[in-house]
Amino acid sequence: MAGHARRLDGIPPTIFTEMSALALSTGAINLGQGFPDVDGPAAVVEQAVDALRAGRNQYAPGPGIPELRAAIARHQYRHYGVTVDPAREVVVTTGATEGIAAALLGLVDPGDEVVVLEPYYDSYLAMIAFAGGVRRPVTLRAPEYRLDVDALRAAVNDRTRVLLINTPHNPTGTVLDRTELQAIADLAIERDLVVITDEVYEHLVFDGAEHLPLATLPGMFERTVTLSSAGKMFSFTGWKIGWATGPAHLIEAVLGAKQWLTFTSGSALQPAVAHALDHEAGFYDELAVTLQERRDLLCTGLASLDVDVRVPQGTYFALTDVRRLGWADGREFCLALPERAGVVAIPVQGFYDDQQAGQHLVRWAFCKEPEVIAAGLAQLQAADLRA
Ligand code: PMP
Ligand code: GLN
Repeated sequence: MAGHARRLDGIPPTIFTEMSALALSTGAINLGQGFPDVDGPAAVVEQAVDALRAGRNQYAPGPGIPELRAAIARHQYRHYGVTVDPAREVVVTTGATEGIAAALLGLVDPGDEVVVLEPYYDSYLAMIAFAGGVRRPVTLRAPEYRLDVDALRAAVNDRTRVLLINTPHNPTGTVLDRTELQAIADLAIERDLVVITDEVYEHLVFDGAEHLPLATLPGMFERTVTLSSAGKMFSFTGWKIGWATGPAHLIEAVLGAKQWLTFTSGSALQPAVAHALDHEAGFYDELAVTLQERRDLLCTGLASLDVDVRVPQGTYFALTDVRRLGWADGREFCLALPERAGVVAIPVQGFYDDQQAGQHLVRWAFCKEPEVIAAGLAQLQAADLRA
């Protein structure tokens, strides 16, 4: 019997599944996969329970229920002054993961090139490949992990169709600033490119940093698909309710692909997320404050271990370089870590084409209770972590 289809060649299993399974099987503290260990607002859970009991258990409309699309539109206007038509410029997706898939499948033809920030979130690699696209990474380099505008320009050619951006950026924690975003916008306009921008961590920024959606820059709304998710915004990662917003002609393409992936999902969860968007902004404001404290706890602790730590401006991840501990390979380090220290972290080399840039980098999540982070750090500090 034949094994998998050729489209899976060169696409390794997702590292998040591998590392969370390792945490479970070893009983290690999971500072790997990014999911909060405390759920989002109880009132929002109640809304979902009410919706289940009220019989919202059949298919939702393909683009999402009208009240959620309207709430997403209000959110975009309230935070960013962006006006979107809920009927034609918003689509609800099965997490941002499906948004990424549908945007790439709906907008990229075989042979089209997709310029993507590297390290790239792992589903980007799989979905660019599924679409038949060609990945052109632009590396955010240590120690600051800023956008190299010359490298970005050099990556674009006549075959480029899409710029795939992520800000705040997983796993570097970089929040692209106005100058960097303007450089992206200038290039997109000059070369008539579509921009897909993954902004799932839009509200999780620190030290007064400002998240600026690409779609707010002059001339950008009409060429930009913006993705977000209730998973990150309201700490309901298992609900898998995300959304895409943008001009009708691009959202039509996203929906064109999305309707054949899941058609629809989360009927009873969608009204709860609509409620959250309208009434629970305080949740993510507060989350950003507590995450900043946890970031500081984690980063200070990691710095004491003789690793170079990148203190993130956003997201809930911190990136470290483990070479000073004698490890050239972050994956080997992460595989040894449960036994050495009872902790799981994520090697990010799979998020890089340029192995020189990424092979030794390891990501740690701080969307965990302070006691959990402190316990993980204590175990790391007590362990022999040298290669
Ligand atoms: N994009 C990025 C950058 C992420 O970190 C994640 C992980 N949540 C996703 C997309 C996927 O989001 P969702 O869980 O809503 O599918
Ligand atoms: N986005 C989360 C992370 O980066 C979870 C990813 C996943 O489980 N697919 O850890």
